[in-house]
Amino acid sequence: MTNTVLVIGGGPAGLEASRGVSDLGNPVILVEKNAFLGGNPIAERYAMLTGPVFRDAEEAMQDLIKPVTDDSNIKVHLSSTVTALDGELGNFTATITSESGTTESVTVGSVIIATGFKHFDPGYTSGAQQHWGYYEQPDVLTLTDLEKMLKDKNVVKPSNGKVPERVCFIQCVGSRDRQLGNQWCSKVCCGIACKQAIEIRELLPDTRVFIFYIDLRAYGFWEDELYWRAQEQHNVNFVKGVATEVIKRGDKLVVKGEDTTMSRPMEVEMDIVVLSVGMEPSQGTLDMANMLHLPLEDHGYIKTIGGPLNTTQTERPGVFAVGAAVGPADLEDSISSAGAAAMKAVSALRKLKLSAVAGD
Ligand SMILES: Cc1cc2nc3c(=O)[nH]c(=O)nc-3n(C[C@H](O)[C@H](O)[C@H](O)COP(=O)(O)OP(=O)(O)OC[C@H]3O[C@@H](n4cnc5c(N)ncnc54)[C@H](O)[C@@H]3O)c2cc1C
Ligand code: SF4
Repeated sequence: MTNTVLVIGGGPAGLEASRGVSDLGNPVILVEKNAFLGGNPIAERYAMLTGPVFRDAEEAMQDLIKPVTDDSNIKVHLSSTVTALDGELGNFTATITSESGTTESVTVGSVIIATGFKHFDPGYTSGAQQHWGYYEQPDVLTLTDLEKMLKDKNVVKPSNGKVPERVCFIQCVGSRDRQLGNQWCSKVCCGIACKQAIEIRELLPDTRVFIFYIDLRAYGFWEDELYWRAQEQHNVNFVKGVATEVIKRGDKLVVKGEDTTMSRPMEVEMDIVVLSVGMEPSQGTLDMANMLHLPLEDHGYIKTIGGPLNTTQTERPGVFAVGAAVGPADLEDSISSAGAAAMKAVSALRKLKLSAVAGD
């Protein structure tokens, strides 16, 4: 039996899980597919993270990355993934394969999967009623495209390099959509749209910003720090309506849909349209579920078996799943579930050891 815990995925959840396990005194092997740690906030170059207070994303992520890279109890494998895992609680054998093809076999006692999410691809319209023109119109962006522009403090119309007069966000793109089969709320996109709207208004005070939403879901403290702040302090316009089509007219984009408050068709001209794309399980999450024979829950994320009372235990003893690998999650959710999994991964091994000593 070994005390080592394997963590797969070095995003916010995997980093916090690694730190938690190490703080409890167990060695950690952390395997990350990218050549760097930090998950989507680093890979997609987020500008600010909100929680709900704004913080430079790179700086905030360093608070998670540094304790891991400074800790000699945590061995990090970058540009690598786990290609096989056999055995049982206390004695799993994992094969770690690097991008260059080298393999290493390690023995670990328990496993935490933190392989996260991918952003919905708005070019995927099969089965959908919406026509957003993402791949056809350069001025149609996603939240992540805009994050990169905000990070560079350079928000311009990609088609002509000019400062936009009017920018709008279309909410629930790829989420809450039964025709697509994505029957979940992605939880963060309302708050992120409000955050980005505030950042645009601060950067470009003459640019008007609109958010088209079905319901605005800014839960907990995100309500006043993001939603009310966007509206009251930054004059962001919130329009309850369903946008179904984006077309080009001259050098403008036209958003067509329905203003549901007024129950009338809507047609508005914009310079930039931002699609608030939701979350889907990442390919890595699906691959790990497949390799470990873990069932998925009804929406396609890794299934955990304890409901709200145990959010991290999978059907396989000794294997836990956290963060956005188990469903749409913000940073707070991801960090909280990572802490819980660290505790459970270590306690499962301690209980096994105690029962072995007691001769059970
Ligand atoms: C545009 C946008 C902005 C956001 N801004 C905020 C915000 O301001 N505040 C907030 O609270 N939340 C925000 N979020 C949500 C936040 O990004 C997530 O909560 C968080 O990234 C989830 O962390 P995670 O570690 O579970 O997953 P991820 O960030 O997806 O990390 C998963 C990691 O696992 C790795 N991986 C995947 N497959 C494998 C594999 N097979 N082997 C090894 N490694 C693998 C990936 O490379 C990645 O590093 C935002 C989301 C979006 C879309
Ligand atoms: S958070 Fe907002 S935009 Fe995202 S899916 Fe939920 S309601 Fe739609």
